[in-house]
Formats: sequence, structure tokens, C-alpha cells
Amino acid sequence: MKILTLMIFTLAALASQAQQTRLENLHGKTILLFTPHPDDDVFGAGGTIALLNRNQNKLYIVIYTNDDKGSYDPDMTSQHLAQIRKAEEEVSEGLLGTPRENISWMGYDDGMLEYAPQPKLVEEATAIIRRVRPDVLLSVDPGEWYERWHKTDHRMAAFNTIDAVRAAEFWLYFPNQRLQLGLQPYKVPEMYFFYPSPQEANYYVNIDSVADLKFDAAAKQVSQFEPAVNKYRSDWQPADLARAKDEMRREQPKKDGHYVEAFRYATGFVQY
Ligand SMILES: [Zn+2]
Repeated sequence: MKILTLMIFTLAALASQAQQTRLENLHGKTILLFTPHPDDDVFGAGGTIALLNRNQNKLYIVIYTNDDKGSYDPDMTSQHLAQIRKAEEEVSEGLLGTPRENISWMGYDDGMLEYAPQPKLVEEATAIIRRVRPDVLLSVDPGEWYERWHKTDHRMAAFNTIDAVRAAEFWLYFPNQRLQLGLQPYKVPEMYFFYPSPQEANYYVNIDSVADLKFDAAAKQVSQFEPAVNKYRSDWQPADLARAKDEMRREQPKKDGHYVEAFRYATGFVQY
């Protein structure tokens, strides 16, 4: 009888622990999300972001690049596009509940992240992790057993972030951060990687309750969709918007009839 009682308590404890660790059920936690461009956060994890904000977590978004290249418009300039992308991202994330002051920009040029000075890049990301000290970190998936081949910027953001997660643990990486800035080493306990390969995705968040909000938020990135990507305009024609949202609904991954966002969950990284 005693053993049975103990087993029941143990099972209950495990169940409540499992319940607490569900990403969409987190409450009052600090979450840090690294994204290569100002939209991968929304496309890859927008529904999850909405749920995290709804649950009063403190969510910080860090954007590696200014996204100043992605337009086919022959009259567009990089300076103008960077301004447009910043404004679109703030509105987009705002719809998901992220305050503008929680969004920070590392300011690298679009498409050039792999050619940025790597020690500086990893040092900056390490400082952010040590400063924010997140309970949960979200980023693009570098892959666990297989390197995930993303497009440029995505692969650099993926690898740089996990390298910074590792560096953040050991104070002797960038010791000036401790000695001069007072930033203590920090071990990130949990990570969820968006844009995983289908083979390595191991975690799915049901976003049914916020799917329309996610599609609305994604549609705020007007310049990245047709027709604005070809000839910039700041607003949508209703028919174009309806078409874009139909496509988003079609393309959003589904599992057992529900809209989901796929992640690879990890509590560490491959050490060898
Ligand atoms: Zn991107």
C-alpha cells in the first residue's frame, strides 16, 4: 500500500512537472528569442509567442539583421527597406503582445551574418544571454545529430546562438563581461529551436487559439509578400491580403487536425 501511495505521488509529481515544462503553459518566466531576420520569429514561432505573452511571460526578441535586402523593387534602397522592416516587425510583434521596448536589434546587414566578425558576434550574443538570464531560450535550430542546412543568416544565427549559449556558462569566455559589466555566467536550462528538420522536430505547440492572430501578425510584414515585395506599397489590397492569408493557412503545419508550431526541444547541446 505504501509503495502504491508513493508511486501515485511520484506519478503525480512527474505529471505536474511535465505540465509545468510545457512551453505554452509557462507563466511569469523570462524568455529570450533570437531571430536572424525580423519575421522568422513570427513565421516560425508567432503562435507560441502570442501564447507566451498571453501568459504574462517576459519575452525578449533579439534580431540579428536589419533585413535590408529582401525586395525585388528596383526603386527600393537598403536604408529605406531597413526602416520599413523595423516598423513592420514592431507592429507584427506588437499584435502578438510583445512590447516594442523588448525588441532589440543587433544591426547586421541582411545576408552578411556569416561574414561578420565571428568573435564579436558570439561575444554580443553571450552578453545578451548573461544579461537577460532566460528560463527558456528560442532560436533557429542548428540541428542535434545532423547539421540543419538553412539559408544564409539562418544557419549563422543558429550556430552563433548555440555557441553563445555554451560560452555564457563559462565566465572565462569574454571575462570582461564579468569583470567590467558585472555579468555573471549563466546556464540556459531549456531551449526550443524553431525551423527544425522534420526528422528532428520533437515538440509541437498547438496554436489553434491564436492561429488567426499569428496570420494577422505575419501579414503586417507587408513588404515581404506579393505584390509589395515586387513594387513596394505599405498597405494591402483586400484581395491580395485574403490570398496571402489563405496561403498561410494552407502552409501552417498541422498535426491531428490542429495548427501547430514545430520545435526541437533541448536542455543542452552536443558536447563532442
Ligand atoms: Zn529569415
